Amino acid sequence: MTASIKTDPSCADPWDADSKTVAQALDLIETNTPRLQESEQLPIRDSLGRISSEVVISTINVPGHANSAMDGFAVSGSSLPAHGIVELSDIGTAYAGKPFNGVCGKNECVRIMTGAVIPEGTDTVIMQEQAEQPGNQIVRIGSSHRAGENVRAAGEDIKQGEEVLQPGSKINTADLGILASTGIGTIDVIRKPVVAFFSTGDELVSIDKPLQKGEIHDSNRYTLHGMLSQLDVDIIDMGVIRDEPDAIRTGLLEASRRADLIITTGGVSVGEADYIKSVLEEIGQTEFWKIAIKPGRPLTFGSIGNSIFMGLPGNPVAVMVTFSLFVTHAIRKLAGAPPAVIPLLKVRSLQDLRKKPGRSEYLRGIASKAENNEWQVEKTGMQGSGILSSMSRANCFIVLPAENNGVKKGDLVDIQLFEHI
Ligand code: AMP
Ligand code: MG
Repeated sequence: MTASIKTDPSCADPWDADSKTVAQALDLIETNTPRLQESEQLPIRDSLGRISSEVVISTINVPGHANSAMDGFAVSGSSLPAHGIVELSDIGTAYAGKPFNGVCGKNECVRIMTGAVIPEGTDTVIMQEQAEQPGNQIVRIGSSHRAGENVRAAGEDIKQGEEVLQPGSKINTADLGILASTGIGTIDVIRKPVVAFFSTGDELVSIDKPLQKGEIHDSNRYTLHGMLSQLDVDIIDMGVIRDEPDAIRTGLLEASRRADLIITTGGVSVGEADYIKSVLEEIGQTEFWKIAIKPGRPLTFGSIGNSIFMGLPGNPVAVMVTFSLFVTHAIRKLAGAPPAVIPLLKVRSLQDLRKKPGRSEYLRGIASKAENNEWQVEKTGMQGSGILSSMSRANCFIVLPAENNGVKKGDLVDIQLFEHI
């Protein structure tokens, strides 16, 4: 007779009923994370990457006046010949910033520079290279022109009264120029989210201390600090907290008084020293605690007071994967930005990849260009969730959806490039 052992759900299982899919987890994070309401006013130079909290309306036309797109001669479209050549007399010059103040008649033209206001009586600019000026006074123009050419209309970029920024838009470099060109020097943006984080684990030792048997240096706080530094957040590093429920409770309560988002690493599995989940149940609310993803399955999401809580796994690669997928999602919501649209590229796998259906997998990959100019990807070697060097060598994730049943060499797979990590 064969005896069998009854087992609890574990990290090794392909699927279990308590797990959320990646999409469900993202939805729950979106729904349960508030948008910060407070804003601050910044000089536009300091607002790059921040989220506008106001509608910005232009009070002026940009450009303010019709002006020349070329160096050349401003003429009236009605002076242009249908056939042959017309001779016009040059009556003056219009410079950018120094308009020609006279009126140009039918047989006349005005020499004009790029950006100069179109003189009264003209509506067309003939490029200098397409006109002849035999002496100082006479300009000869042929028949190959169109009335209105080379003129930029007033307001063709931005119209007076037009919305140039909506609340929730992330201010990019072009926006800085647009704000400047509309004469707007300050902008209201959502305040930065405050993020507090600490590591948990009795084995963790700071980097300036030698390691005793079984101890490891705390690397998660450094990767987390690095990833947070790339976002517009204020960071509170709360250090390492021991695997003791009282210490964890005290740490979480303090973090909830100081931060909009609390991140911990470690202590979220089913081991005997994993207290995060039980302490959260006591002092806050749990929305979910497992995601069908590899690496990163044990991830606890919930709230403590007014703060959002994300208990990331302890394994260093799982921390980076879950941060890039889920923590950034929560931070965008807090900051009032729409969810990120992360492009996946389809490239050829250079090898077989084993996988069972059930969980989404994020392998660390190196994407490169093949000789035929197509893109290809290979994994970085050992993929354990503790192998941080697999992240360091990678330039992308190979994203295998939950239902994927393995990849054959030469198959197309999705990759997500790393710019943001
Ligand atoms: P845990 O989720 O606490 O069981 O941790 C899972 C694994 O991640 C263990 O091997 C831990 O030693 C390791 N780990 C936990 N926290 C850290 C950290 N801050 N830095 C590096 N490794 C860690
Ligand atoms: Mg631990």
